[in-house]
Amino acid sequence: MKLSELKNGETAVIVRLSGHGGFRKRIMEMGFIRGEKVTSVLDSPMHDPIKYNVMGYEVLLRRNEAAMIEVLPEEDAKRELSPAPTYNCISLCDSCATCNGQCGTTYRNATERRNVINVALVGNPNSGKTSIFNALANKNEHVGNYSGVTVDAKTGSFNYKGYRINLTDLPGTYSIAAYSPEEIYVRRHLYEQMPDIIINSVVASNLERNLYLTTELIDMNIRSVVALNMYDELLAKGAEIDYVHLGAMMGVPMIPTVARNNKGLDKLLDTVIELFEGKNNTIRHIHINYGSIIEEQIIPLSASMHKADDLPQQFPVRYWALKLLEKDKEALRDLDNCLELPRWKAMAEEAARQIQSQMGVDAETAINGAKYGFINGALQETYKPGAKDANRNTRRIDRLVANRWLGFPIFIFVMWAMFSSVFLLGAYPQEWIEKLFTWFGEAAASIIPQGAIQDLVVNGIISGIGSVAVFIPQILILYLFISLMEDSGYMARAAFIMDRLMHKMGLHGKSFIPMLMGFGCNVPAIMATRTIESRSSRIITVLITPFMSCSARLPVLILFAGAFFPQHAALVLMGLYLLGIVVAIATARLLRLAKFHKDETPFVMELPPYRWPTLRATLRHMWEKCAQYIKKIGTVILLSTIVIWFLSYYPRPEKGERLKVKGESEMLAQETESSKLKAQSKEVKGENFEQIAEETTISGINENSFIAMLGHAVEPVLAPIGQNWRSGIALITSIPAKELVVSTLGVLYSSDSDESITEDLKRSGDFTPRSAASFLVFILLFFPCIATIAAIANETGSKKWALFSIVYNTLVAWVAAYIVYAIGGLL
Ligand code: GDP
Ligand code: MG
Repeated sequence: MKLSELKNGETAVIVRLSGHGGFRKRIMEMGFIRGEKVTSVLDSPMHDPIKYNVMGYEVLLRRNEAAMIEVLPEEDAKRELSPAPTYNCISLCDSCATCNGQCGTTYRNATERRNVINVALVGNPNSGKTSIFNALANKNEHVGNYSGVTVDAKTGSFNYKGYRINLTDLPGTYSIAAYSPEEIYVRRHLYEQMPDIIINSVVASNLERNLYLTTELIDMNIRSVVALNMYDELLAKGAEIDYVHLGAMMGVPMIPTVARNNKGLDKLLDTVIELFEGKNNTIRHIHINYGSIIEEQIIPLSASMHKADDLPQQFPVRYWALKLLEKDKEALRDLDNCLELPRWKAMAEEAARQIQSQMGVDAETAINGAKYGFINGALQETYKPGAKDANRNTRRIDRLVANRWLGFPIFIFVMWAMFSSVFLLGAYPQEWIEKLFTWFGEAAASIIPQGAIQDLVVNGIISGIGSVAVFIPQILILYLFISLMEDSGYMARAAFIMDRLMHKMGLHGKSFIPMLMGFGCNVPAIMATRTIESRSSRIITVLITPFMSCSARLPVLILFAGAFFPQHAALVLMGLYLLGIVVAIATARLLRLAKFHKDETPFVMELPPYRWPTLRATLRHMWEKCAQYIKKIGTVILLSTIVIWFLSYYPRPEKGERLKVKGESEMLAQETESSKLKAQSKEVKGENFEQIAEETTISGINENSFIAMLGHAVEPVLAPIGQNWRSGIALITSIPAKELVVSTLGVLYSSDSDESITEDLKRSGDFTPRSAASFLVFILLFFPCIATIAAIANETGSKKWALFSIVYNTLVAWVAAYIVYAIGGLL
């Protein structure tokens, strides 16, 4: 708890001091040291300041300063602060798995005693933060070779040398100003969560730009260690760096690492602990010299701010002064409660005017320039660029891949290769899984006596789940491609190639990455739009991403394309994806015309060098997606299948009633529970009841059932696009998750024959190639699922856009399906 929360007369023990270095130093000098007892003596009438007793002295602290000191009741503190006992099982085992509990203490007990260090990973996009995070916290977060892969903070905890380390992977940023959402996010994290230590990951072979962020951390006076990551690339370039010297100059320890091979990470963690314990010799707070003109302006401003006692203590005074000069919006927000803010603002404005008139540039540019000057100066003494041109390969590949004429055909070829592999390679394992589920169904049918339960298990659960599970191979292959494109750096090139086209739609190549990611799953894709600086472009990209056919739609597309267009399945599939893109483009244009007229901010995007994807990362990515899919099958899909089965099975027709049932004889057979009769009825099929029998084998849909009612209710709307009430049911059930279309069809069309669902569908006569095409188009463009809608609401920050998306996508889907159906009629 915070010291400020301590009630009058209560005593507690200090366990942690937050805030910038200067504040910590001052507060420590007054006796507020880790492990020291402190008593709240007196709350002043205005609740501020508060009088504390520490080391026998009475000290006044402001409430906001006391909030930076973390305390614990004496009992708890004793445990927290006692030196961590060394166990045999120091490695992170959940219940002492490695030593079988021989150390006599369970892991839980051990961690409670350990000292906790909160560490945040900060760095440029694509500098390997997530790779470090995964390696340290043994996690499996998504890495990719383009900027902006991590859009949220991820946390993981692990034990190291008696400490509990809580590690947070933050989104990548080039600076910590208040431009893009991630920058603001990182800034807020540092301000509100106040991590104890920062690991600043830096691309060793591209120090100049990467160290810019480091200079900002220096200004913030937060204890950090620089991970000189991708040190292997620096060595490959033949470059040399005296990082000890560089670290000493900047006042920040620097550790070379190769995150993806786990190299240097122990040393990195050792340094984190040294910093935490105040035992590192390199760290010191330096003031970057901004040159006489700027310094002349900072000094009086920070002196005036120094006197205020309501200044937030998270960052040092000088930092706030600099930010005021830069007119940083976030800083103004943080200082909003300061009484003197209007006066400081006036001072800062005057100072900025002075800088402008003397230097000919605005204060922000001048400060930036000085930062780069500082970095260049430091590098001049410590860095020797390599003789070898490390980017030669990248340039060579780019000459081909990003070529003006070849770039586009190559991209199309890659896409074609992806979809063909999904189709052709996926077909084999798909068949095995299909067989497996057929076998399950038969086995279940032979074990469970006939009746509702058997129907639920065989025609409901097994058939529904099976029809979705068979697409696991295809989804794995799709993610294999996406993962390879991301890791190698090709994804960024795709954005580059598409840039011109995207410009035509009023967007930027950057919007293309979320769109491509949308082929996997729309939800993370929509989240990935956070890297787009301009708000209007971001909203547009969010709204068009659902037109990118996600992997959940893939099973439906594969099923229908394979069943009704067997000769051209891959082509149809690709055509559909293209249609999605075309509709997205049209939508973007429309939105630009109707709502967002101009883009507010210019875009910049970097093309990372090509890197070999690691097998580990690729497999992990694939496995993760596969696991997610299986989990979805086990939860949402299983549950929905049962509900759908229930809705399609009940209400049961009354005995003896002349049924208005398709598959009447089958129903009857079940009612009387006589397999003999069933067999007979099957025999009959070929003869007297040819008509009915036809339908019997195809589908056992009970026309009295609830689901049939639902289907009939939407039928009038769907009739013009060639759909009947059964496809209506499939469309309704697709709302929670698109995979449910296949599982619903699996339940609805499952027949007694051993045929696969493809055969069942074809034989049903419900679909012709024409109506199948219109169905495919509708499914493609219809809004994807509840989760995506939630993501849209989240990312645009408004329910209105989510609602718009539902209505608009449904309308577009209908119109496009109508057109396809009409054209089909002409052919
Ligand atoms: P983030 O955007 O900062 O989270 O960066 P990622 O962790 O996603 O990594 C970006 C790319 O750099 C990926 O392709 C990684 O495989 C690669 N990478 C990460 N660390 C290293 C390293 O130490 N050496 C090399 N050569 N590549 C690395
Ligand atoms: Mg990342």
